Amino acid sequence: MQELGINQGTSGNVSVRTDTGFLITPSAIAYDTMLPEHIVAIDMDGRTRSDVRPSSEWRLHHAIYHHCTHANAVIHTHSVFCTALACLRRSIPAFHYMVAVAGGTDIRCSDYATFGTQALADNIIAALTDRRACLIANHGMVCYGDDLDRTLSLASEVETLAKQYWHACQLGEPNILSTEEMREVLEAFIDYRN
Ligand code: 13P
Ligand code: ZN
Repeated sequence: MQELGINQGTSGNVSVRTDTGFLITPSAIAYDTMLPEHIVAIDMDGRTRSDVRPSSEWRLHHAIYHHCTHANAVIHTHSVFCTALACLRRSIPAFHYMVAVAGGTDIRCSDYATFGTQALADNIIAALTDRRACLIANHGMVCYGDDLDRTLSLASEVETLAKQYWHACQLGEPNILSTEEMREVLEAFIDYRN
């Protein structure tokens, strides 16, 4: 994530589903000093036996694995352009056909709640309805996928879309693709991705 420029320092977190729950990055440990023994296992009742403090956002990861049965990996970032749009509480509309990569005709921005709370997890679940990614108000972005590699690609793609949308907005009001145009894209994506 650091190489891609989508997370830095201790911001953001990553998890992957296991048979009994999920593995998640620790809280407040910078990525460049993080070791395998810092990774925390949490079960689907939200319990851990680890002495290491799990990410403060374990509730949102837990909520995604609970509600989104296809989610096998989750990435949360404070990537710059996603966060900038999220601070304006702006969703990303269908200004570019690649918005379909998140599963629909837009990438929503969730309502605001304090980091690490169940309220934030609940807001994110609402914003993720029929989507694999959303912006998080005054905070950042979260997405999920089939595995860690594909989820990392999605996180990078959503940041690129946020950047492109930001730049397009500098010159005027972007043309938004119609529901019918996006329906064709979403159908074509089914073949493209298989
Ligand atoms: P953690 O270091 O606890 O994972 O927190 C980072 C973060 O992005 C909180 O929203
Ligand atoms: Zn965060």
